[in-house]
Amino acid sequence: MEVRISGTHYPLETLGPGPRLGVWFQGCTLACPGCMSRHTWDGRGGGARSVADVLELWSAALAAGALGLTVSGGEPLQQPEALAALLSGAAGLRDAWAHGAGGAGDAEPRAAPREGAWAAGRATEPGRVGDPVPARVPGPGPTTAPTRLSASASAPTPSPEAAGTPDKGGTPAGDEPSRAVSGPGGSGSRADLLVYTGYEPHELTERQLTALEHADALVTGRFRVAEPTPLAWRGSANQRLRPLTPLGAVRYAPHLRRAATGRRLQPVTVPGPGGRTALRLYGVPLRGELVATERALRGAGVSLRDASWRP
Ligand code: SF4
Repeated sequence: MEVRISGTHYPLETLGPGPRLGVWFQGCTLACPGCMSRHTWDGRGGGARSVADVLELWSAALAAGALGLTVSGGEPLQQPEALAALLSGAAGLRDAWAHGAGGAGDAEPRAAPREGAWAAGRATEPGRVGDPVPARVPGPGPTTAPTRLSASASAPTPSPEAAGTPDKGGTPAGDEPSRAVSGPGGSGSRADLLVYTGYEPHELTERQLTALEHADALVTGRFRVAEPTPLAWRGSANQRLRPLTPLGAVRYAPHLRRAATGRRLQPVTVPGPGGRTALRLYGVPLRGELVATERALRGAGVSLRDASWRP
């Protein structure tokens, strides 16, 4: 099984709790105005990789102590079969790792059986790029129970990579490490699987719902540039963070209404085309943060070409 991706990164520190493996899918037709990851829109862009290769990265991340996998884009749900294979394989490796490590000392429940998890019901939370950051955010109360998504129509998510490109797919993080994990050098059963999608639950097709069977949490909804939010890991106020499993509920309950603190963008430089350096910015910036970043870089004598947030 192949998956077309924009890129991967470990340790990702700004899209979910703790150090994570980030995987950004390539291709998104949702075209949200203000999207900072326009380089991920072209379904023919990025590169094809086998899911098995990506799972090798996940195994290495677990061994290095990853607390989770964040899948963003681009829109992951526009490659539902590949996403299903990736999440299924990642959950299997995570569980095998946990069992191999003894899985002892788990304070968080393991992922529960998913029967009916998608059958009906609602979800719980908002998010993506924001402005000022109040200490406390009004809104829906935090949920401790996993969310149920309703099936019906059809669905995809956001991601990163490229020269002068910020990588979102979701939100800022790195600001709130999770609890420590058991297991020799790894995160075992505590490694959660988080998926960002631009779709709303009611838009998801059966294929897309099936693809999410092993996800522990979802961030849903289009990015709306006019609706900034201070919430951690979300880019606009309409977006919802939705725990889907007991593990997801325990891990994300403290963050459902938490305003982001600390850095929202994680800069990473990699070799770019033509011998140039490519700057990747992982996370979800506050309103104006990208402009401020460009200004600061200019002040340091660095100019960006082909910034992915510019049309
Ligand atoms: S914000 Fe996400 S869903 Fe919207 S166009 Fe960009 S990649 Fe697609």
